[in-house]
Amino acid sequence: MLREVAEGVLVHESDFLQSNAVVVRGAEGVLLVDAGIRSDELAALAADLRGRGLAVVAGFSTHPHWDHLLWHPDLGTAPRYGTALAATIIGGRLADENWRDAVGGMLPEDLAGLVPLDELFGRITGLDAAELPWSGPAVRILQHSAHAPGHAALLVEERGVLVAGDMLSDILVPILNAMSPDPIGDYLAGLQAIEDAAAGVQVVIPGHGSVGHDLRARIEQDRAYVRAVRDRREPDDPRLARPGWEWVRDLHGGQVERLATSG
Ligand SMILES: [Zn+2]
Repeated sequence: MLREVAEGVLVHESDFLQSNAVVVRGAEGVLLVDAGIRSDELAALAADLRGRGLAVVAGFSTHPHWDHLLWHPDLGTAPRYGTALAATIIGGRLADENWRDAVGGMLPEDLAGLVPLDELFGRITGLDAAELPWSGPAVRILQHSAHAPGHAALLVEERGVLVAGDMLSDILVPILNAMSPDPIGDYLAGLQAIEDAAAGVQVVIPGHGSVGHDLRARIEQDRAYVRAVRDRREPDDPRLARPGWEWVRDLHGGQVERLATSG
C-alpha cells in the first residue's frame, strides 16, 4: 500500500478523496506528512512502516483542516508539527470542550465513526521556521495563506519532491480560503511562492489526487482557475467536468457566489 514515488519518498493513498499520506525517509526514521483519514488505514500504515523497520520520528500537518490532522497511537509519539499559525488555529478549536461535535459535523456521513477524533487529533506543535527540525534530508516549509490560514507546502529539494498540501490537485479545483479578506490574492501569492521555490521539483504530491510529474502545468492550471474566478469568467477546467464528481462543480459555484456577495 505504500508506494515509492521518488528516492526515499513513499505515498499511501486513501480511498477517501484520494488523500495522500507522505513518508520521507531520513537517517533515523521517517517523517510522516498528513498521516491519513480512517482509523483502520492509519493502523495499517503504522503496521506497514513497522514491517519495513521504519519508525516515525516526526509528523507534519500541512494545514489545520480535519483531514490533515489525524494520527494513531500505533504511529508512536514523535513530535508532530505544523506552522505556528496552523497550531494556534487548531489549538483554539481543541480548547472548546465541544470540539468533537464541531469537527464531527464536518465529516462526510460515510466516515462517521471511522475517523479517530481522539486525544491525538490535531495535537501539533507550531513551528516558526523555514526548515523542519529533523534528522532527514532538508525539508523547507513554504508557508502561505492559499486554501487555509497557516498552510504550508514542504519542499524536499534533494529528492526533487514537493508535498503540496491542498493545492495542485488533478481532481479538485483550488478551494479558496473563505476566511481571508483577499482569498484570490492569497491564492495567487501561494502559487507564486511555490513556483519561485520549486524550480527543481520533479514529483508533486497533492493532498488529494494523483502524484504528478507536471508541477508547472499544475501551477498554471490552478492559476488559470483562480484568475477566471477573479475575472468572473467560467473556467475552462477539466476538474469541473469529471463524471461522478459533480460536487466539485457545486463547490465551484459556491465559491463564485461567495466572492460575488463579498464585493
Ligand atoms: Zn484542506
